[in-house]
Amino acid sequence: MSINDKVYTYIQKSHIRLTQHMRAVIDTIIESKTPIEAKSIYTQLKDNHKSIDLSTIHRILEKLHSIQLVDAIYREKATSYELSSQFLPHHHHFTCSECDTIIDIDECLIDPLLSSISHIGKPISHSFEIQGICKSCQK
Ligand SMILES: [Zn+2]
Ligand SMILES: [Zn+2]
Ligand SMILES: [Zn+2]
Repeated sequence: MSINDKVYTYIQKSHIRLTQHMRAVIDTIIESKTPIEAKSIYTQLKDNHKSIDLSTIHRILEKLHSIQLVDAIYREKATSYELSSQFLPHHHHFTCSECDTIIDIDECLIDPLLSSISHIGKPISHSFEIQGICKSCQK
């Protein structure tokens, strides 16, 4: 099943009304390979000649977040969204504090640590974010 099929099957099961606007927002999130913020979704849709205002996008994102279709990544300047962990492989984020870019880290950094805490219990899930300065901002 493609990621699009998975997402739209999930929407159907959630019994929320899938509007044209919502579909446009979801497709933009799926196409974006990194977490995306409302303003960028707005710009992309506008470039594609879709008329939708920013507050509608915010409302849709809140809705999608409430049914756990997307995860929110909170930063100082804005909140970014990506498909939730049930649709994406497990990964972590590196956020640049200079340019606010979020970079996906595909490799799990703490997997090796998890086995060392087995005497405490069985870990089910974890998440963490790394703050730093990206390569291009270091120049
Ligand atoms: Zn940067
Ligand atoms: Zn991510
Ligand atoms: Zn991990």
